[in-house]
Amino acid sequence: MNMMTEEKKIDEAVKIIKESSNTVVFTGAGHSTESGIADFRSEGGLWSRYDPAIYASYQYFCQDPTKFWQMHNELEDILVNAEPNPGHYAIAELEKLGKLQAIITQNIDILHQRAGSGSYQNIPIYELHGTYGKLVCIKCRNEYKYGEIDTKNVKFPVCKCSGYIKPKVILFGEALPVGVLENAMAACANCDCFILVGSSLMVSPANFMPVIAKKNGARIIFINKEHTQMDELADIFIKDYSAPILTKIIEKLKAQLSH
Ligand code: ZN
Repeated sequence: MNMMTEEKKIDEAVKIIKESSNTVVFTGAGHSTESGIADFRSEGGLWSRYDPAIYASYQYFCQDPTKFWQMHNELEDILVNAEPNPGHYAIAELEKLGKLQAIITQNIDILHQRAGSGSYQNIPIYELHGTYGKLVCIKCRNEYKYGEIDTKNVKFPVCKCSGYIKPKVILFGEALPVGVLENAMAACANCDCFILVGSSLMVSPANFMPVIAKKNGARIIFINKEHTQMDELADIFIKDYSAPILTKIIEKLKAQLSH
């Protein structure tokens, strides 16, 4: 397999997806870098300017949300200015073709939804690290939309119940949403094709996902710019940018399905 050309690997990936009846796509930060969102962990990323142990710590937030909301303005600029890239549209296209059953993402940027994912066949999108699209009170769990509450002209927004309000993103030290994680793991256990896109699988529980899929017999496709710690799981490893590769996969798949 090492000697396989990239074109040949793409053909193999198309064949696997075509033959599969339950495909899960898993996306990490690398998938959104092509939308102009630098990996927060990378050089020049958000965490190089704001120590996440302070600015994105759930414990700190519960004591005093000031620091989080200082950082938030910059986070918001990054997210609001980002657009879905061709890779997001290719994944949405997979759903349209009836060839995708679930998306699991580590990204909070809602770019999958903005590209149309979830709206064609109502497939679930499991956002392991929460979502930027909504706000929530940490005390009464009441949810708010952006715009519904002033987050700009205040030190930090406060709920009617006097609880602090935060985006529905998961901060460091905060528990992952239990239902989301369980459902994502179940999707991995039930799939027969697992496509990893733009994640180096450095953090758990994200790195459990391909292991669960593999253990249950799924065929595994990795599309990542760098090697991962789990390359040996992959049946096909395409070491490249995800947007152009996914675009090629979709084009070939569509051509084959229309015959
Ligand atoms: Zn409240």
